[in-house]
Amino acid sequence: MNLVLLGPPGAGKGTQATRLSQEFAVRHLSSGDVLRAERQAGTELGARVAGYMDAGELVPDDIIIEVILSRVKAESGGVLLDGFPRTRAQAESLLEALLADGSSLDAVISLEVPDEDVVGRITGRRICPACGQVYHVRFHPPQKADICDADGEKLIQRPDDTEEVVKQRLQAYHEQTEPIKAYYRQKGLLSEIDGTGTMEAVGDAACKAIQDRVCGCESGG
Ligand code: AMP
Repeated sequence: MNLVLLGPPGAGKGTQATRLSQEFAVRHLSSGDVLRAERQAGTELGARVAGYMDAGELVPDDIIIEVILSRVKAESGGVLLDGFPRTRAQAESLLEALLADGSSLDAVISLEVPDEDVVGRITGRRICPACGQVYHVRFHPPQKADICDADGEKLIQRPDDTEEVVKQRLQAYHEQTEPIKAYYRQKGLLSEIDGTGTMEAVGDAACKAIQDRVCGCESGG
């Protein structure tokens, strides 16, 4: 099974992807995490994408398509893509690659969160650099301020989680990513979910939407 999770930055894609990938037994593949790992490892690819990421801009299609599709092809058990595709060209390449492999895309879930919620969600986000656990200073604080509950590491703020960069990332989302919802809607793959509820309610709705699509209980829309 292959799934795509869409939504603006801060919509909760990472959190929901963790749950959904477990429920549907597919590999969670986050394009942002892949790029951050390349940067941390000091690779040439990491150096090529750093400027775009720090400015809140999208990395060029040719780079990201090659990086992500090679990983998708290596996952025979199916994937849940989080953060990819983000442009129409990426969406088309993904579908072509899946079909060429005798596979397909089963469902696209779009988490809907208004812009005014996004800024507060992202600027309060803190991450454990060691284990990747995500916290929020107000909505999901660690037991001890700035310290990871799981491993005691000092939490950090992603450099692109500042207000200025978030605004740029939101603009990139509206201009380049949101239009691909129409592409997926037209293919009968899109389910739009209210992303403003509790983590559990959003996850339940996303699970149900995927189940409905996969078992063919829903005709589309
Ligand atoms: P994310 O963690 O998904 O918010 O991604 C962080 C940053 O990585 C984005 O702001 C982009 O600069 C870059 N990035 C991640 N995924 C993509 C993609 N599919 N296309 C272009 N750039 C991407």
